[in-house]
Amino acid sequence: MKEEIVLTYKPTNKIKQHSMYRLNPECCPLCVQEEESINHLLVECVFAREFWFILLRQVGLRALSPQPTENSFLDWWETASNATSNMVRQGVNSIIILGGLDSLEPS
Ligand SMILES: [Zn+2]
Repeated sequence: MKEEIVLTYKPTNKIKQHSMYRLNPECCPLCVQEEESINHLLVECVFAREFWFILLRQVGLRALSPQPTENSFLDWWETASNATSNMVRQGVNSIIILGGLDSLEPS
């Protein structure tokens, strides 16, 4: 089921106007250091990892947040989901789905 989800991201006009982004529109609009990809935006980027850490910390699951070695959103999601009991798993999956959608929503 998770593999069927198609994730897309379009930078906002505010991001497009950032001077570093204009110099290299292929770079991540958050850290402006790495090449932009969906996996980078969701788990590799330092800002993405901070987002997940803060979100999961709110429910006492900060240990599930992506680590610096993480490079696949779906692999991280599967690992995080499998690391929880059945009761907690549904909640973790909901948080990850909503968090992922929220992190990609233009502000
Ligand atoms: Zn980045």
